[in-house]
Amino acid sequence: MNTTKSEQLFTKAQTMIPGGVNSPVRAFKAVGRHPFFVERAQGPWIIDVDGNKYVDYVCSWGPGILGHAHPKVVEAVQQVSAKGLTFGAPTAGEVELAELICACVPDVEMVRLVSSGTEAVMSAVRVARGFTGREKIIKFAGNYHGHSDGLLVKAGSGLMTQSVPDSAGVPEGYAASTLTAVYNDEESVRRLMEENSGQVAAIVVEPVAANMGVVPPKKGFLEFLRRITKEQGALLIFDEVITGFRLALGGASEYTGVHADLYTFGKIVGGGMPLAAYGGRRDIMSCVAPLGAVYQAGTLSGNPVAVTAGITTLKILMEDTGIYERLDRRAAKLEEAFREKGLIVNRVGSLLSAFFMPDRKETVSNRQTADSDWKIFETDGVKKVEIERYVENYEDACRCDREAFADYFNRMLERGIYVAPSQFEAMFVSDAHSDELIDRTCSAIRESVE
Ligand SMILES: *Cc1c(COP(=O)(O)O)cnc(C)c1O
Repeated sequence: MNTTKSEQLFTKAQTMIPGGVNSPVRAFKAVGRHPFFVERAQGPWIIDVDGNKYVDYVCSWGPGILGHAHPKVVEAVQQVSAKGLTFGAPTAGEVELAELICACVPDVEMVRLVSSGTEAVMSAVRVARGFTGREKIIKFAGNYHGHSDGLLVKAGSGLMTQSVPDSAGVPEGYAASTLTAVYNDEESVRRLMEENSGQVAAIVVEPVAANMGVVPPKKGFLEFLRRITKEQGALLIFDEVITGFRLALGGASEYTGVHADLYTFGKIVGGGMPLAAYGGRRDIMSCVAPLGAVYQAGTLSGNPVAVTAGITTLKILMEDTGIYERLDRRAAKLEEAFREKGLIVNRVGSLLSAFFMPDRKETVSNRQTADSDWKIFETDGVKKVEIERYVENYEDACRCDREAFADYFNRMLERGIYVAPSQFEAMFVSDAHSDELIDRTCSAIRESVE
């Protein structure tokens, strides 16, 4: 694989850009190599500056549900760009996108457009505090909600990859009002709610966690969060920046049937442009300025070009009634290939993670895993329990073998398949991944997992 131009660019980039990249996980540190620099991307393909071509399962970390450079999205963006790039004044497109979001997610009665997922969650938390008059929030270890100060506590994603549990530069005071619970562990939530009775503004959660690898909620977990927040006068915030418009048009709330008070969206909703959103109950969203007392603003919020990319993407998803079933079927094939190789796979729709556990078929006898798939078997006359799906929280995910993952990543890349350069990111399946490419990927998986 020729990487001359990428290497040159990376060397130069490092002299001016911290680590040579504008977002840490792009640096490929966890897989022991240097990043490739992208020249262009089309459909399922991403092509680097040295002309290497990969099947892309990163999909820009989530937005690319239709594949790269969908002709309809590109055309719409080109047309609207010619009319001006930003006005700082309202446009019809913003109304249309709001309408589409509200139609897809009926719990969203009012919505605000912002420019990044970070901003969306930060703002939703501020609104929750403003509405309830309370200061504390509960988040889960391994859930990532962007890089705002108050939410960089036990966050997953890039922080996990780099083994940085918390960021330097976050004042202790911020972290103090962020309480951390264990994903899928009701008791940990109950305890925090009791100890901080009357002080918790909101529980913020990834309804299907996808930033410590994919970790689905156990049966009843989201329902429990709904119940306890209601009982205690706190709000429930679903961070659907990844899951929104991916698991279903209505995101995780449609997929799971559990309804939150506030939602955040990003990634897909911007159709590949910098756009995100937060919204929810009308009475709560009425707190947002200029209607209410919670301030939130943005020079480029609701940018007309980004809005157009979002509208076009959502419309394609709405008109294509078979897309989610197709994505699910293709992702299931990948799941099967990983399972054949003995990996632990968590998959929810088109989001999946194969975990490289240290002893692939770990046997555990006393774990609390009521909802997991159990298998009882006997070796040398000793009865043991084998648990197939046991990555249920941050601690579980942290046990995986990062070196084995790095080897797999590099072998896949050599075979022209680009998966996320970290064990703790999801594999994203897009509609551009044809059955043929999926089969090719399955073969690569069989060859690449030792
Ligand atoms: C990506 C992500 C964010 C942050 O979005 P940015 O656009 O990167 O700021 C927030 N929450 C979740 C669940 C995400 O996956």
